[in-house]
Parts: sequence; structure tokens; C-alpha cells
Amino acid sequence: MEKTPFKAESKRLLDMMIHSIYSNREIFLRELISNASDAIDKIYYKALTDPNINFEKDNYYIKVIADKENRTLTISDTGIGMTREELENNLGVIAQSGSLMFKNENEAKDGHDIIGQFGVGFYSAFMVADVVTVTTKALGSDTAFRWQSSGVDGYTIEAAEKAEVGTEIVLKIKESTEDETYDDYLEEYRLRSIIKKYSDFIRYPIKMDVTEH
Ligand code: ADP
Ligand code: MG
Repeated sequence: MEKTPFKAESKRLLDMMIHSIYSNREIFLRELISNASDAIDKIYYKALTDPNINFEKDNYYIKVIADKENRTLTISDTGIGMTREELENNLGVIAQSGSLMFKNENEAKDGHDIIGQFGVGFYSAFMVADVVTVTTKALGSDTAFRWQSSGVDGYTIEAAEKAEVGTEIVLKIKESTEDETYDDYLEEYRLRSIIKKYSDFIRYPIKMDVTEH
């Protein structure tokens, strides 16, 4: 008999994921940093076969910037970036992993193991953020795009300005309530300890910048 594929209610799925897949909220930073590292690894891989790309290790890093006054936490990378189509496919389709596809297309070489595979880590950002804004420019592209979402109600994509290739993710950190505090995610000592705990093995430098105001 012919089989009918399951359908999924994507709003409910995302809601479920944000609220119950992770026991520990702080891991959102691990997920975003691993995506940033994967994005840099992808340039490294491309450079192995494309003589036009010169992989100078010093040019590749991840930056974490906390701005307390504006309650934003920014994670940026100088990785491969995303085209408009990749934004649609990778951030617009839950449980679609561009990194897994990349891994399948490119053999693992000398320990540069791309981390991503499940295609859900990114959405963990909504555990701590009301709004997530991704501005990105793909390697070899002149145009940048901005993806924005406040979670279950979907996302928008528009053309944007970005000088360098790579991705910048801005999290508008949730306001604390009587029961929950989110202020920690704007504190340098706390961010440093989360990075130390989960991202110590990342092979690219993680730079940090905290504006107190
Ligand atoms: P996974 O990392 O398991 O693939 P994620 O939900 O963390 O799943 O990310 C989904 C996809 O979005 C990634 O596979 C990648 O293609 C893309 N992506 C996410 N963050 C970045 C980034 N900083 N730079 C480039 N691509 C990214
Ligand atoms: Mg990931």
C-alpha cells in the first residue's frame, strides 16, 4: 500500500523545540558558536580545492559582543555566509542542516570536522531572545541579506548592507521577569564561563567585547 508521509505543524514544532528540547538555556551560545565555526570550516574546505581562495588562518574568527544598554548579544563570524536561497533553506526549514549536506559533499579532512547535523541548534537562540536578526553575505556574492524572526510567527528576508563576507547574528535578549532572569547573557563573566564550558575546543579565536554604558 502507498504510504502517506507525516505532516507537521511547523509552528507547534518550533514552539516545542524552543521550550522543551533543551534542558539548559545557556547552550544557545554553544549552538551559535558551533555554527560560526562550521561556517569558517566551510571556507577552509573550499580553499583546499579552489586555488582562488587563500585561507589565512588569522583572518578567521568569531566575535561575541554584548551591549547591555540595548540588550543585544551579537555573535558574528567571518565564515562562508549564506545566499538568500541558503537563508530560506537553512533557517526557514526546521531540521534542515546545510552543514550536514556540506559534510556529505565534502569528505572530512585532517580533523576539520563540521559539527552541525540536526538542523535545529540555531533555533535555541529563541530560548533567550525575543527577536533574532541574521545579516549575512555569502562568499563570492556582492549582496547581503537580512533574515529576521521573533519565533513562531515566521520570518522575513530583505536585502541588507554588509561590507565583509560572513554572518552576524543579533539576539535581542528577553526582559527578565520575576521568575526568570536573562540579564546574565549580557554579562562578560557569565558569557566567558559559558564559552569556556562548551566551546573550549573551537579552533578559531573567540573574541569578546562588552559595552557597559
Ligand atoms: P546544524 O548546525 O545542525 O546544521 P542549525 O540549526 O544550527 O543546524 O543551523 C542550520 C543551518 O543554518 C546550518 O546547517 C548552516 O547551513 C546554516 N547556518 C547557521 N548559522 C550559520 C552561520 N553562522 N554561517 C553560515 N551558515 C549558518
Ligand atoms: Mg548548528
